[in-house]
Amino acid sequence: MQRYFVAKEQMNDHMVLIYGEDVKHITRVMRMTEGDHIICSNNYDRVCLCEIDHFEDDQVVALIIEDLPSDSELPVNVTIAQALPKGDKLDLVIQKGTELGAAQFIPVQGERSIVKWDGKKEDKRLDRLNKIAKEAAEQSHRSRIPVIKSLHSMGQLIERKSEFDHVLFAYEEKGKSGEHKQLANILAEAKIGESLLFVVGPEGGFSEGEANKLSDAGFIPCSLGPRILRAETAPLYILSTISYYFELER
Ligand code: SAH
Repeated sequence: MQRYFVAKEQMNDHMVLIYGEDVKHITRVMRMTEGDHIICSNNYDRVCLCEIDHFEDDQVVALIIEDLPSDSELPVNVTIAQALPKGDKLDLVIQKGTELGAAQFIPVQGERSIVKWDGKKEDKRLDRLNKIAKEAAEQSHRSRIPVIKSLHSMGQLIERKSEFDHVLFAYEEKGKSGEHKQLANILAEAKIGESLLFVVGPEGGFSEGEANKLSDAGFIPCSLGPRILRAETAPLYILSTISYYFELER
């Protein structure tokens, strides 16, 4: 069934008021009429089965039939801080990372990132990434759309450390040296509901300076196994591992 995200204030106890782009989708793309059913999430704490009641002006009024249990969110809150990868690889990270359950993405200007975002480009890129996240969240039956932060420098990212229960960075040198245990150790320590921040490097990896800065600030360097993954594969590996650990193995 088609799913739509609405803002909290668009939903009350009995009904949902849909406006904006989603109205076009409901009327023109899906060609829905009165009596058709949709699922609405308020992107916070409610996912409801709704019936379209009527169309007025540029709005769709849907009545709530019942609240649905929403257990599609990862049991831990995962933020991926990704050093800007080449081309449109970040689109892929956001789309697939949303399917895999990330709660938040922070684009980071890595020292070895080839791509740079200037002010104008950043706004456009963020709009596009938010749209990708919303569509991927609807498609994968998430009850929340991941948050996408503005571009951070490595220093700004490090300053956010206290917002998280666990802070790590995927460090290729740990993969190469065969010290693979760290990620499993952290996951064994992490409790349901806690937050984890993972920093992932760009194609050229982290500079020694960045790796030292992160380590000095208390970020734990971890291996993602003995193979070197592409910058866009690494976050998907992390999220898949977390899903396996918290959702399948238990
Ligand atoms: N060019 C670098 C590899 C960069 S891979 C080199 O050859 O050494 C891009 C990013 O993905 C890395 O900075 C790291 O964050 C992550 N990554 C890829 N494979 C990894 C592994 N086996 N262990 C830990 N991190 C890895």
